[in-house]
Amino acid sequence: MAGRNHLYVPGPTNVPQSILNAMNVAMEDHRSPIFPKLFKSLLVDLRKVFKTETGKTFIFPGTGTAGWEVALTNTLNPKDRVLIYRFGHFSHLWATMGVRLGLEVEICDEPWGMGIPVKKLEARLRADVHHNIKAVLATHNETSTGVTSDIAGVREAMNAAGHPALLYVDGVSSIASIDFRMDEWGVDGAISGSQKGFMMPAGGAFLAFSQKALNMTATASLPRFFLDLTDQITNNKDGYTPYTPSIPILYGLRQSLNLLFEEGLDNVFARHYRIAEGVRHAVAAWGMKVLAKEGFQSNTVTAVVVPEHKDARDIIIEAFSKYNLSLGGGLSQVSGKVFRIGHIGDMNEISILGAIAGVELAMLGHGLSLRPGSGVGAAIDYFRST
Ligand code: PLP
Repeated sequence: MAGRNHLYVPGPTNVPQSILNAMNVAMEDHRSPIFPKLFKSLLVDLRKVFKTETGKTFIFPGTGTAGWEVALTNTLNPKDRVLIYRFGHFSHLWATMGVRLGLEVEICDEPWGMGIPVKKLEARLRADVHHNIKAVLATHNETSTGVTSDIAGVREAMNAAGHPALLYVDGVSSIASIDFRMDEWGVDGAISGSQKGFMMPAGGAFLAFSQKALNMTATASLPRFFLDLTDQITNNKDGYTPYTPSIPILYGLRQSLNLLFEEGLDNVFARHYRIAEGVRHAVAAWGMKVLAKEGFQSNTVTAVVVPEHKDARDIIIEAFSKYNLSLGGGLSQVSGKVFRIGHIGDMNEISILGAIAGVELAMLGHGLSLRPGSGVGAAIDYFRST
């Protein structure tokens, strides 16, 4: 098909040409005397993105899923109780991982479209007088529903309850695109991946842990080898890795960090908000609703609810097969009920307007009634007025 593929799924995201170029390198000896210069610079600079001065950063060859497993297996013991609010596909998967690993997972269900209910969390933690809950697992940005939760609020709830549980945050689709403050929010483990806000291919899990979490590694007895944090610490201190790293991912990360710092993290967050608002204005102009409830709407992905008599999958197929536009599908509970527009990473006004136009074409082609250009016009009006 003529024209390039227009990628608007919430990960993998579009990779800037300069990152692709940076990754196009000959392989090199990861035990050479010059390797630590690159690797140490990445560990140091990742701290600026996670906003931590007291925590330690890690790079694993893996994806966000591996990051979840690193956090759980390195710091917990079989039958330890963990608390998770489940309101989408990814919070469900993290909970499932905990169950499979032999943890006692307390799952609190919230309707899809909602995020973490901080008042309920506080009440639950207050009731846990013996402090049986060892960790709270919080999904910062639930990519399947386009919901962002208030992690500062989660920390406040934990403090208000005087609860010592660890706070682990899945920031796979938020870190490097939505404001995230590890130290300020008292996060003990933060998990991200290369293929979203970092604008790279999948293959890098980027993590940060507090001293409190790292102290738990000495006694944590869940089995681990590839994902062991202590092996990383032993090797990372000299700028090396316990096993063969993915060299292209490391060079890509170097350039990704350069781009993020060049633009400035606050500008990156403001751009994501602006683009997301453009999308939300378009959805409203179509007379449709986003799945995320007020106050929870994500700046990296929007799940758009289709009218009841329509199947969102047909719109996604129409967009892909006729216009080479890739949209995200609804996952599990909302399959067929929503399509998702990913607006994360390397994106500006023009690129998102193209996607909104493509969505209009696909919806019109599938018999939805809307005025052509209404969404595009609403987004343009918003961009011009701000
Ligand atoms: N958590 C969230 C919020 C995600 O969006 C994803 C993937 O999309 C994951 C975890 C799993 O990450 P990965 O697919 O990189 O293993």
